[in-house]
This record gives sequence, C-alpha cells and structure tokens, in this order.
Amino acid sequence: MRKYSAFAIAREAFRHHDGWERAWRSPAPKASYDAVIVGAGGHGLATAYYLGKNHGLTNVAVIEKGWLGGGNTGRNTTIIRSNYLQDPSAAIYEKARSLYETLSQDLNYNVMFSPRGVIMLAQTHHEVRGYLRTAQANALQGVDTRFIDKHEVKKLVPIMNIEGPRYPVLGGLYQPRGGTARHDAVAWGYARACSDMGMDIIQQCEVTGVRVEGGAVAGVETSKGFIGCKKLGGVVAGHSSVLAEMAGFRLPMESVALQALVSEPIKPAMDVVVMANTVHGYLSQSDKGEMVIGGGTDSYNNYTQRGSFHHIEETVRALIETFPMLSRLKMLRQWGGIVDVTGDRSPILSKTPVEGMFMNCGWGTGGFKAIPGSGWGFAELMAKGHSPLTSEFGMERFREGRFIDESVAAGVAH
Ligand SMILES: Cc1cc2nc3c(=O)[nH]c(=O)nc-3n(C[C@H](O)[C@H](O)[C@H](O)COP(=O)(O)OP(=O)(O)OC[C@H]3O[C@@H](n4cnc5c(N)ncnc54)[C@H](O)[C@@H]3O)c2cc1C
Repeated sequence: MRKYSAFAIAREAFRHHDGWERAWRSPAPKASYDAVIVGAGGHGLATAYYLGKNHGLTNVAVIEKGWLGGGNTGRNTTIIRSNYLQDPSAAIYEKARSLYETLSQDLNYNVMFSPRGVIMLAQTHHEVRGYLRTAQANALQGVDTRFIDKHEVKKLVPIMNIEGPRYPVLGGLYQPRGGTARHDAVAWGYARACSDMGMDIIQQCEVTGVRVEGGAVAGVETSKGFIGCKKLGGVVAGHSSVLAEMAGFRLPMESVALQALVSEPIKPAMDVVVMANTVHGYLSQSDKGEMVIGGGTDSYNNYTQRGSFHHIEETVRALIETFPMLSRLKMLRQWGGIVDVTGDRSPILSKTPVEGMFMNCGWGTGGFKAIPGSGWGFAELMAKGHSPLTSEFGMERFREGRFIDESVAAGVAH
C-alpha cells in the first residue's frame, strides 16, 4: 500500500486525486484462517494488527456484522488517560497511552492524538482524599499525574466556575499527557494497516454461532457461511455475553446503554479535558469547536443504541453549575452505544472454557483509551497463551474473588 505523506498529497494534487487507493480491501471470506477476530471495533482491529506486527500471524480475518468502527469505537467521547489506581490497570492503560503518542507514525495514519491534558475534578473532600491516593499510586506506577489545587484548575480552565453552589471545585487530579484522539481514525488506521498485511476485514457478516468440536473451537457460523479457525478472539463490546452464550459459557457481565451529546460549534474555549465525577458529566472541545459532553449509563440493562432521555437533561443540568456558559449553547445531536460492564469495573482479557477461544470485553464506559494496549496484550495472549499485560484480567478472577476494583476510576462514563 502506498505511504501517506506530504509528497503524496502534492503528487495527487497534480493528478486530480485519482491515484489514491482504497484504504482497505473488502474480500469474500476464505474457508479458514489461523485466527478469526469477531468485531471490527478498535480493540478487534488492534488485536489483529499486533498479531501480525508482533507475532507474524497474518492469516487472520476480522469479522464485523455492521461496518468497521460503527460500534462503540465510533461513538465515544475519545478521552484518553491512564490515571487508574490498581497496578494491572495502570499498566495496560499507560501502555495504551504511550502507544497513542506515536500511533500516527506507526500506522502511517493521522489519528489526531491530542495530549491536551485531562483533569478529574475533586468536588468533595472524599474525592480529594481519593485523588491524592491515586496520585501517589500513579507516582509508584510511573504514570505522570499530580493533584492540583483549585486555583491551578481555574488557570487551566478559565471558563469554569470553581465556586459552584452545590459542589465547589476543591482541586483535581491532572494528567498532562492525557487527552483525546479521533476515534474513527483509530479504527480506520488499524484497518488499513491490517489489510496491508494481507488480513481480511469482512464487513456486513454477522457471527451467528460458534462451532466447538471436542472442547476446542473449530470456527464460526456467519451470515456468509461457515468460517473455520484455529484461534478465535471475541471482541464484541455490547454483545460479549451473546457471543459467549453461542460458545456455551456465561460471562459476569451486564450490557447497558451509554450516551453522549455535542453542542453547536463555538470558538476555542477550553483546551483541556475535564471530568466531573461527583455531578457526573465530562466535557472537552472538539477540533470543530463542538463541546463534547458525556453522561452516565442507563440504570437498567438494554441493547438500545440510544440511551434514556432523562440523562441528557441531568447531565447538562449538572455541568451547567460548573460551566455556566453551557446554558447559552444549543445541543446539536445525541447518540448512544451499548457497553459491557463487569462487577469490578475492569475488563476481561481471558482464555475461556473453550480451547482456542479468547474473550476481550468488559471495557465498560472507558475502553477507547485502552485500544492500543489492549490489542497489544490480547494479541500476545492469543499468540502465546499468556501476556504480562493481561494476566490479571482473566475471567476466573470473579470466581476466585481477585477483583481489580476500579469502581472509582472507571465507574463513571469516560
Ligand atoms: C457514549 C460513549 C462514550 C464513551 N466515551 C469514552 C471515552 O471518552 N473514553 C474511553 O476510553 N472510552 C469511552 N467509551 C467506551 C469505548 O467506546 C468502548 O470501551 C470501546 O470503544 C470498545 O471498543 P470495542 O472495539 O471493544 O467495541 P466496539 O467498537 O463496540 O466494536 C465491537 C464490534 O463488534 C461487532 N459485533 C457485535 N456482535 C457481532 C457479531 N455477532 N458478529 C460480528 N460482529 C459483531 C459490533 O458491530 C461492533 O462493531 C464510550 C462509550 C460510549 C458508548
């Protein structure tokens, strides 16, 4: 595949842009592959990419029932950070954040990573204590965060009202190299690189069954026929328990709708990402100028890609206390995705009771930030049977009571 470069843009400008190639092929499925990944979201595509790049496994298909990146990967609010409390979480999220730093160069695709800084506001004394503890933990884990006082918060975000009526801002946990990236571009960049390695990305192809023979995976039944495989990776956020049921086992997982909304575009007003977990809302400004707002999950299980109406009102009402200028903005559009949530709010990257089948799921409300690290670790797990990045995230931890409790860091929608 031709390299994207400034030179290529200049060359195409002189050729009426008729020399660009398709970013990825759309082949018919082969009868079998060494590995099949179900789900062409960021995590599935990143897994395929690192299977090829790090482990030389390129006879791989990624199967997607809709269009690639059309699940949660194309629906999130793109916040990237790694300020988690527990060591296994900090390790995988920081691996992902550090890979984001050079992902555009690695993929030769501009994913628009913008390390503009992320502040998690402390608006109660309990939160202050919690974030001071996290900052200490992060220092030991080698994750660059610090607790900042309310004056520094105000300096970084002048549009914020730090003397709010209900919850004044007391400080915040600040990660200077956290930020955002263009979510579609992450999926597209990985897809292009996978296709370039000879992998097949098969869209509009739903997996309807998992064929198990003698306790081991033999392949998948799909809307385009049976596809055999030696290894199977289930990476279907929102439908993980559905896929697990096809293979005959259960996951400790709930599926709920999570939604976000954006305002009309305005001039640059805020160049950091702010999360307000007490009032439950988070905010950043997109490159187009829209204020990107995320809210909470529905409080009941469902598979709608919409979210309840009352969340829109509650989220905006909560944020207006801290950002009064939002009250003047029209909201432009709203959307939702289905997220899989585990009991300890940490993901599952695991072998399963079916030999050769692996699951990568349970990223809940915060898996976009983890895509490169998750793909890196899950590919290693699939290729070698173990990975230092994923070893603590096995599904057996729920039976053994070894929870990785991130309910403070990850129980909010981000
Ligand atoms: C509104 C919202 C805001 C969010 N904000 C953030 C944020 O700011 N920061 C952050 O880090 N995370 C955020 N998240 C979470 C993040 O988006 C997800 O954790 C992440 O995108 C999951 O990626 P994935 O690749 O696992 O899943 P997906 O991108 O959902 O991909 C799974 C794919 O599997 C396909 N699939 C399902 N079943 C089948 C089947 N039977 N056969 C074939 N294909 C199938 C689906 O069509 C889908 O394309 C947010 C999520 C939402 C919904």
